[in-house]
Amino acid sequence: MEQFIQIESHVMITVNSLHAGYGKLEILHDISLTFAEKQFTTVLGPNGSGKSTLMKSILGITTIHSGTIQFDGRELVGIRTEQISKLGIAYVPQRENVFTDLTVRENLHLGVRVLSRDERAVAIEEVHDLFPILGKREGQKAGQLSGGERQMVAMAIAWLTRPKIMLLDEPSAGLAPVIASEVFTVLQTLREQGMTLVVVEQNARRILQYCDYAFVLREGQLAFQGTAAECLNDEDTIKGYLGVR
Ligand code: ATP
Ligand code: MG
Repeated sequence: MEQFIQIESHVMITVNSLHAGYGKLEILHDISLTFAEKQFTTVLGPNGSGKSTLMKSILGITTIHSGTIQFDGRELVGIRTEQISKLGIAYVPQRENVFTDLTVRENLHLGVRVLSRDERAVAIEEVHDLFPILGKREGQKAGQLSGGERQMVAMAIAWLTRPKIMLLDEPSAGLAPVIASEVFTVLQTLREQGMTLVVVEQNARRILQYCDYAFVLREGQLAFQGTAAECLNDEDTIKGYLGVR
């Protein structure tokens, strides 16, 4: 009988019938989806399809017209962004995700501010294991780093806050394929350690090699959802909405 027992993955974020945008402008139309705990989920879709708007809506920085967003059973709509972060949702935005005038060390210390003194030392040590390159760049201004290194700093800051879930908006954008793979390898390690990840990405073929589950947006609507394998095998989705990159 054992093979019939399925342990349902706990749902961490539930978005239900979400209509959201900027002021009166509605960008997301009736989006319903879930992000499961300890899974690596990707949100795909062409330029302007609403991927960033979805991330920003979870963080409370768009206008929610209707619908609900629940995190661990708690309603996020109407809560301030700062509070939402404190609940354990770390967000790495698509642009301007590090302080370019601060050194790598100073950037990382911004991340650990929320931790106790004892926890800080351990966390910084762990971050250097996860992102070895950062140890070598400690004294350098983040603005002088390569795109890949900068993305590592942004991910490290997010991770250092000890979040329950990390939302990353196009962490591989503008990076050479080999560097992008390094970013995804780090994300895969985090997932193996039990982190819940939601990653927005444009390069479907690349991220589908790493993630568990995929949602595809098109013109602000949900166009597809399925496992990474189902998404890769769905020719209509891959060719029609995502290009063949
Ligand atoms: P990309 O792949 O280019 O990052 P995306 O899928 O993340 O695209 P969004 O940034 O969510 O797309 O944008 C969706 C739509 O919302 C676009 O038409 C965009 O012009 C519009 N939009 C984004 N930000 C704002 C804003 N602050 N005010 C008004 N409209 C906006
Ligand atoms: Mg975007």
